[in-house]
Amino acid sequence: MAVPVRPFVYDGLPSRVVFGPGSIRNLPDEVTRLGAKRVVLISTPGRAAMVRGIATNLPVAGTFDKAVMHTPIELVNEARALAKSLGADCCVTVGGGSTIGFGKAIALTSGLAVIAVPTTYSGSEMTTIWGTSAGGRKQTGRDPRVLPKTVIYDPQLTLELPPATSAASGMNAIAHCVEALYAHDGNPIISLMAEEGIRALSRSLPAVAANPADVASRSEALYGAWLAGCTISTTSVALHHKLCHVLGGFGLPHAETHSIVLPHAMRYNHDAAAEAMARIQKAIQAKDAAAGIYDLAKRLGLPMRLADIGMKEADLERAARIAVEAPYPNPRKVEYAPVLELLHYAYEGRRP
Ligand code: NAD
Repeated sequence: MAVPVRPFVYDGLPSRVVFGPGSIRNLPDEVTRLGAKRVVLISTPGRAAMVRGIATNLPVAGTFDKAVMHTPIELVNEARALAKSLGADCCVTVGGGSTIGFGKAIALTSGLAVIAVPTTYSGSEMTTIWGTSAGGRKQTGRDPRVLPKTVIYDPQLTLELPPATSAASGMNAIAHCVEALYAHDGNPIISLMAEEGIRALSRSLPAVAANPADVASRSEALYGAWLAGCTISTTSVALHHKLCHVLGGFGLPHAETHSIVLPHAMRYNHDAAAEAMARIQKAIQAKDAAAGIYDLAKRLGLPMRLADIGMKEADLERAARIAVEAPYPNPRKVEYAPVLELLHYAYEGRRP
């Protein structure tokens, strides 16, 4: 019997992806391909040596190696001024979402081309989403100018990503896939990517945790991360990401917050998103999607309680209020009492 396909809109984003162990060797060719002649390198202080190592054959005009989390506007302005004073025509960002955020922030006001070399699994390299922070508040938006023109995924560059960071970042990527599967503006292509992304990540992350230098597991995790990045690039996120954004405002770490909240947000949406949950169960080979994701995080040795990563119990009510004030579209109605209950479960780290 034919299965009806729901009407959808699919908005493909133009980006070139070069994937594979050793693919960083293609970086000079990729710079040339964009016609760039004056490259500014962007990294955190921790990745600065790695970046110098891979930039030997590039037309480097200068380096900004002060990227930090949350793209604070003072540092963003410093990076923008540097790129301008150097007459740069391309940013090469090597690192996680924090570093890529700087390249995007420069591109937002200058239109400069960004080449991203991601070394975590958070997926920023595939999106048009930018963010900066000022005075403790984060401002975000979508703009096609910030989408990296080229993304080089080289698993070799991820071998030193610490196991705990890898695990949390991988769960962040799974969260993108989960919400894409029940997004109000989802579509069949993105759902395929989301299901495959969850499969690849849930299979590879335990192997990465057991042996962080295993290139095959790192490759599969990075492949899953690419798919996950694709899923948030064109569909909307829902209650889970809303809660994580709200909790980020309480100073909680990005990836670990995602990992803790995800199974509880999935339980909240379980009955209202039955098809998505069935696909997740299949991808992770579990009987229950929410419990299966909880068990995966536990197996990876991640923190399981908001209480463990700095949340105060006294702030849960305020967080629930903020989350329901301006909710993102979500399969189940977003209401104060059940959202507060969800946050209590996440605070206590109960198996959903
Ligand atoms: P991150 O960039 O903050 O990096 C996490 C840690 O890993 C850092 O300490 C970093 O120094 C270290 N690290 C990175 N690569 C390494 C490597 N190869 N070896 C050893 N250590 C390494 O983490 P993230 O989770 O990728 O990014 C989080 C930020 O990205 C948040 O601010 C989030 O809001 C943003 N983000 C944005 C988007 C978007 O679409 N705009 C998507 C996802 C995340």
